[in-house]
Amino acid sequence: MSFSSLYIDERLVNQLGTLGFESPTPIQSAAIPHILDGKDVMAGAQTGTGKTAAFGLPILHKLLQTPSEHKKARALILVPTRELAQQVKQSLVSYAPEEMKIEAVYGGVSLKPQMDSLRAGVDMIIATPGRLIDLHSKRAVDLRQVEQLVFDEADRMLDMGFKDEIRQVLRFIPKERQTLLFSATFDDSLFTFCKRILTNPELIEV
Ligand code: AMP
Repeated sequence: MSFSSLYIDERLVNQLGTLGFESPTPIQSAAIPHILDGKDVMAGAQTGTGKTAAFGLPILHKLLQTPSEHKKARALILVPTRELAQQVKQSLVSYAPEEMKIEAVYGGVSLKPQMDSLRAGVDMIIATPGRLIDLHSKRAVDLRQVEQLVFDEADRMLDMGFKDEIRQVLRFIPKERQTLLFSATFDDSLFTFCKRILTNPELIEV
């Protein structure tokens, strides 16, 4: 199978070619068609399986296909740690055309540069929940245009006690949206969480 047979934007397919990605990984082949279809997705995927491109490519596809005038975030990726935020940003920037504005915000560093880059306008934000709430309370970020929400490493987010923060973030985002959840493991509390935040999700296991 090839990336073009998944019907993702040619600009992305070309970019993947320059990175030497010849064919989709199993999680990418399984998840991308459902995400392009607009479905909510709940996927079991370990790190190293290509999960970042599995959600990143269809999200980028949608942003490219439906350009917008405003410079407010249309996609939000929630992650548990600063390291993952940086890593996801690096991957998505490498998959995306240059004009796509992708920012990562996380704690442990000063707020000001993150406030400045968000205020300059973004297409996609990768964030740890606590820092995102701080930035929102300072009116540095407007999440009312978010169309696609991703939970990456959701099991770690719940293990780290981010439930209340997530609940708060969900109040800033439209209810009408597509939600994707990726996790290495699933237990009862994660299933309960999924039931609350996902609508008729496609279950994907590879
Ligand atoms: P991830 O699971 O998203 O952290 O990705 C693991 C690694 O696989 C990253 O270094 C990606 O650059 C690489 N990768 C992702 N998708 C593909 C693909 N379709 N072909 C080759 N390498 C890939």
